[in-house]
Amino acid sequence: MSSSTSDSKLNVVVTGGAGYVGSVCAARLLESGHQVTVVDDLSTGHRDAVPSGATFVEGDVAEVADSLLADGYDGVLHFAGKSLVGESMQVPDKYWHGNVVTTLRLLDAMRRHRTPRLVFSSTAATYGEPATIPITEAAATNPTNTYGATKLAVDHLISSYATAHGLAAVSLRYFNVAGAYGQFGERHTSETHLIPIVLQVAAGQRDQVQIFGGDYPTPDGTAIRDYIHVVDLADAHEAALLRATAGQHRIYNLGNGTGFSVKQVIETCRAVTGHEIPAVVASRRAGDPAVLVSSSERAQAELGWTPRLADLANIVSDAWKFTQEHTAR
Ligand code: UDP
Repeated sequence: MSSSTSDSKLNVVVTGGAGYVGSVCAARLLESGHQVTVVDDLSTGHRDAVPSGATFVEGDVAEVADSLLADGYDGVLHFAGKSLVGESMQVPDKYWHGNVVTTLRLLDAMRRHRTPRLVFSSTAATYGEPATIPITEAAATNPTNTYGATKLAVDHLISSYATAHGLAAVSLRYFNVAGAYGQFGERHTSETHLIPIVLQVAAGQRDQVQIFGGDYPTPDGTAIRDYIHVVDLADAHEAALLRATAGQHRIYNLGNGTGFSVKQVIETCRAVTGHEIPAVVASRRAGDPAVLVSSSERAQAELGWTPRLADLANIVSDAWKFTQEHTAR
């Protein structure tokens, strides 16, 4: 049973809402007037990242979903999961359990309690090494790493549940998320993502950044990615939640459609921070494709969403403010 007060104000569960993207999305949903319950086991998230207006349930999604969803919700935004390419190659069981098994349990609980809507955090890593750039949703899905393989498996799970059980589902395939939203930003205990690492060098927390691979078939030899502001990404989730259609599983790529090389990102960070940021070229990281750039035309056409904070310097600047605040503590 739905407990929403009107059609556009929903009562939702945000799994992984103590993490980076989940916390920003939970904060934006609350600002739009939705009711939010965050579920997070705090394995990688932070209790103080849960927005103050949200109800917080500490626990593993696979274990708490059934009892929680019995209370009646309009939807689930499922961010909880494992998301590191390198780790997924070394510890695959953590990814198959944490992404696939957990989501299966969640889907079974949603089916049992007739939770009507799902928005899932998928990834560009489902595509693997693309044949053409920019990558559309029609591109072949051949993940080059276990992380992408597990997220693709979940997309297949969701499709079959949507078709068979009437779930209204949307998978959002993120390209590289960066930036921050006030107090909500990226702070992993052992950071692996490029922009936070580069900014930690600028903040004096690391000596240098390693560039993983200087021999890619790209203009400067370093890998190219499409960086999207976390606020733009979060706003696409609300649009997806509201536009999801019963019995359908829609998939949308979310990026800005522009690629920046690792070297260009480091240069932008130097310009924004005014710090030198020493960088050295190291070997490639296993599982990394050379170029990932999104076409987000489908999301823009069907979700009525447009990225508004696309400028890389602006994305880095918001991340830098967040890094400085967290360094100062
Ligand atoms: N990267 C790098 N040095 C680092 C971290 C990342 O050169 O310390 C590269 C990485 O190999 C990839 C790009 O930066 O080409 C973005 O990596 P990130 O881990 O931020 O995101 P991913 O693309 O893996 O989702």
